[in-house]
Amino acid sequence: MRVMNIIHDSVVDGEGLRTVIFFAGCPHFCPGCHNPASWNIRNGIEMSVEEVVQEVASNPLTDVTLSGGEPFFQAKEVAEVAKRLKDLGKHIWAYSGYTLEQLIDAEDVHQRELLSYCDVLVDGPFILAKKDLTLSFRGSSNQRIIDLHKIDVPLEKASL
Ligand code: SF4
Repeated sequence: MRVMNIIHDSVVDGEGLRTVIFFAGCPHFCPGCHNPASWNIRNGIEMSVEEVVQEVASNPLTDVTLSGGEPFFQAKEVAEVAKRLKDLGKHIWAYSGYTLEQLIDAEDVHQRELLSYCDVLVDGPFILAKKDLTLSFRGSSNQRIIDLHKIDVPLEKASL
């Protein structure tokens, strides 16, 4: 898969101390995007599932945030990473330019599988007109911080 960067010990990409994986590739092209270099998947470096998991596991103190770019753009491989990280006991936040409803209804079964491994989803595109610097963990007020354990849809049934 293509990865822009992996950083450890972030306190701004979700609650607590987190290792953040910034995946390359994003189809949303939001005006005002914080990271337009991530749009082109070729700007990332190639990493295997094992390499990504090893890098995250090298820090036992952190939980994990999947960011980008768009983590659901490479859903098949990212779902494998997320499954391995859950097996390590990691709590997973994911940022997506897709809404929760779009991901639940996604034709790509791997996107639904990836969602089922996440604990919290920050959803929706960044909308410049709704930018709000006072918000925690999100850039615009349309984006929601969703505890996926509290939604009515049984995500497990969407997994493979
Ligand atoms: S979804 Fe995120 S990374 Fe993609 S264009 Fe929008 S703000 Fe940028």
